[in-house]
Amino acid sequence: MTDLVGRDRKHLWHPYSTATASPLFGVVAAEGTRLTLEDGRTVVDGMSSWWAAIHGYRHPVLDAALHAQVDRFAHVMFGGLTHAPAVELAELLVSLTAPQLTKVFFADSGSVAVEVALKMAVQASPGRHRVLTVRGGYHGDTSGAMSVTDPDGMHGLYAGHVVEQVFLPRPRPLYDEPVRDEHLAEVAEVLQRRGHELAALVVEPVVQGAGGMRWYSPDYLRRLVSLCREHGLLVVFDEIATGFGRTGELWGADHAGVVPDIVCLGKALTGGTMTLGAVLCTDEVADRVCANGGAFMHGPTFMANPLACAVSQASVRLLVEQDWRGTVARISEALTAGLAPAWDLPGVADVRVLGAIGVVELEESCDMAVLQPRLVEEGAWVRPFGRLVYTMPPYTSSLEDLETVTGAIVKALQPAGRP
Ligand SMILES: *Cc1c(COP(=O)(O)O)cnc(C)c1O
Repeated sequence: MTDLVGRDRKHLWHPYSTATASPLFGVVAAEGTRLTLEDGRTVVDGMSSWWAAIHGYRHPVLDAALHAQVDRFAHVMFGGLTHAPAVELAELLVSLTAPQLTKVFFADSGSVAVEVALKMAVQASPGRHRVLTVRGGYHGDTSGAMSVTDPDGMHGLYAGHVVEQVFLPRPRPLYDEPVRDEHLAEVAEVLQRRGHELAALVVEPVVQGAGGMRWYSPDYLRRLVSLCREHGLLVVFDEIATGFGRTGELWGADHAGVVPDIVCLGKALTGGTMTLGAVLCTDEVADRVCANGGAFMHGPTFMANPLACAVSQASVRLLVEQDWRGTVARISEALTAGLAPAWDLPGVADVRVLGAIGVVELEESCDMAVLQPRLVEEGAWVRPFGRLVYTMPPYTSSLEDLETVTGAIVKALQPAGRP
């Protein structure tokens, strides 16, 4: 198994890339918070493999859950059959979310969870075919998910193909700022005009992830939700990025004390080991979806995969049985201290931290071909995009790990390394 990168280049697509561009590193081992690269270097993980690996890699509890389930059975179809991993995971998720959320649909990934939520909302709302969302969001890469993702973002190429949804401006104001009536003026106007066509509001609660890594006012979210409900819209929260403690609360919705009708989970659900999404909804939504003996028409081949459900259960239990709030607060402090020196660097527009998310926003897009190898050289795995250099480290990161990651970001952004 040598020259992974060279052989990869001949055949493989990578996320959001051409077949040739962007630096690539072979990984030969991943353990705890460390990735070992093909060339023998070891880097500290600052990404949790896209928010997912909250317990780091090869966590013994997660690995044991996978081994135990593979020794029972790896998969059976979910049509007409059920199994303990799915039942127990559903019970666990229901116990950890708002009491109104009682029904669980397991999907294959985050994007598919969003598709499922859109279909549920539309099926529950006869005569209403579109949904309302905000600019600056990111909800995945399948067609329905793209339709609610910021149209000026990464999916502009597919305009004309995806359903045209109704967009509000980016949520304002920012997290700590007071909401004024003008912030909601357009919301009221749009709902007045088009509310009757809209099945649901679909948003990431409080933190917009891949659409800009920014956090907005919980009070804005509360007021947006209540205006939408006045017009008969269901409320769908995409907690795929915000869930499982990342923002300092267990769910993004908890910042605002709002309960959605439908919620999408993914990413950290399996602790970063496998792909799985979950959609939870209220009894009312489930009843409306299945009104008049109707069925919900979605059912992936690998629905509720037992391995994924078993490891999810282990990951979620491991999280909630520890002082995750204290852990995230400690990471928050370390990121705040570690990234503070970035304020003094030229070309830095903003430095912000919420929960276990630390962001350095640049004035201009970074040059990945320069920045990515520099970050690796400084000993950290951090994957910037556009103007954002950010970290969402595993919750198992030591203070030393966090210093390495933030230090690497600050050093890599020093003028010599800037494009
Ligand atoms: C990553 C993400 C998705 C898509 O999840 P996939 O598993 O990549 O399909 C959807 N919504 C949000 C908020 C995400 O961060």
